[in-house]
Amino acid sequence: EQKEAGLNIVVVGHVDHGKSTVIGRLLYDTDSLPQGAIDKVEKIAHDTGKPFEYAYLLDAFEEEQQQGITIDTTRIQFSTAKRDYVIIDAPGHKEFLKNMISGAAGAEAALLIVDGKQGVQEQSRRHAYMLSLLGIKKVYVLVNKMDLAGYAETAFVKIKHDMGAFLAELGIYPLKYIPVSGLQGDNIASKSAQMPWYQGEPLLEALDLLEGEQAAVDRALRLPIQDVYKFDSRRIIAGRIEAGQLAVGDEIAIYPGGRKTKVVAFPYWQAKDQRTQAFAGASTGIQVADEFFNQRGEIITRAGDTPPLTGKRLRVSLFWLGKKPLQLNRRYKLKLGTQEVEAQVESIEKLIDASSLDQRAADTVKEIRLNDVAEVILKLKEEIAFDRFQDYQATGRFVLVDGYDVAGGGIVLAAEKEAHGEF
Ligand code: GDP
Repeated sequence: EQKEAGLNIVVVGHVDHGKSTVIGRLLYDTDSLPQGAIDKVEKIAHDTGKPFEYAYLLDAFEEEQQQGITIDTTRIQFSTAKRDYVIIDAPGHKEFLKNMISGAAGAEAALLIVDGKQGVQEQSRRHAYMLSLLGIKKVYVLVNKMDLAGYAETAFVKIKHDMGAFLAELGIYPLKYIPVSGLQGDNIASKSAQMPWYQGEPLLEALDLLEGEQAAVDRALRLPIQDVYKFDSRRIIAGRIEAGQLAVGDEIAIYPGGRKTKVVAFPYWQAKDQRTQAFAGASTGIQVADEFFNQRGEIITRAGDTPPLTGKRLRVSLFWLGKKPLQLNRRYKLKLGTQEVEAQVESIEKLIDASSLDQRAADTVKEIRLNDVAEVILKLKEEIAFDRFQDYQATGRFVLVDGYDVAGGGIVLAAEKEAHGEF
């Protein structure tokens, strides 16, 4: 039987509500752990006289990956008969939120974990806000530690109500609420006998019901230029097609400049198998008719397709993870798609508390602190091409780098008119 394409999921929730435990249990139940991991954790439990912790299985998993050739320790995999799953970012991982916003891997679905006894906490709400900002709509809420709540339906219903009300304010309508115990394995791989009142599927079955995203081949082409190589006397433009499709002979326009030329060949592919078309999801090299100076960061679209936006001023929704607060008119590096450009925050329009959703008027706000979310106007040193996040995620989200650290990130809401002020 043919397996479906893999699905990337992100697991979020308040600290100690059981993210690592649920993931450890998923790995255990699907037989996805490296050899010896269970023995190792059993030994730790035995030596320390503490109970077996599924959460520790994650450490064993990461260790294994570090020793192997895989460099990316933030991707944990397990499989069902239907498809492979990748969990982006082990929780507790320091880079968790940073990776989530840089969107390197792009999660399609999220598991939001809430402790069945403690209920919805500040971080549960904050993480939910991140999901809404990132446009992740396929959300399952897992009410965990049901064993500590006496497997009572009332505890489950209360959290379903509380979390549901908050999520609705964010425009998120969870596809399912599942009562689980990561520790005891209730409703993870199989239906729990402890909770006969729950009529739905256990987590693994529920995951298999999620539909994967279709690559957006029918949309306007978005091909951010990754690199330009010199190859013999030719220049080859390389990049990943984020949306749309492209064929030899197509007229293309390259933004922000908007210059037009034609695709002459896909040199690597045609040398191998004569392929003359490329689709969303593919990384490709293209040779174009006019060798004007193209560079990393520009976005290629087909002439006639809806072009990306261009400009030096962007209205964005931004959240801040830097220890040093974000300051107006300080210089940061903006990375959007494959572009890098100097940026400053020109003005703070709104400050939002991601946990209470309270807003503060902008005129009283001079800086953005750790964990704050704000709507701001960004001013760039050079003109770039970009999209609104709601139109194209890959070219509509960005991170801000302060020195060497990713200190914030966010999504593009709109292009703003040019102002006359100097950068
Ligand atoms: P994280 O910070 O969200 O990753 O939380 P962990 O997975 O590390 O869990 C925090 C603590 O809660 C650990 O001691 C777990 O053993 C415990 N825990 C997690 N899930 C359950 C559960 O379903 N039932 C019980 N009784 N304890 C749990």
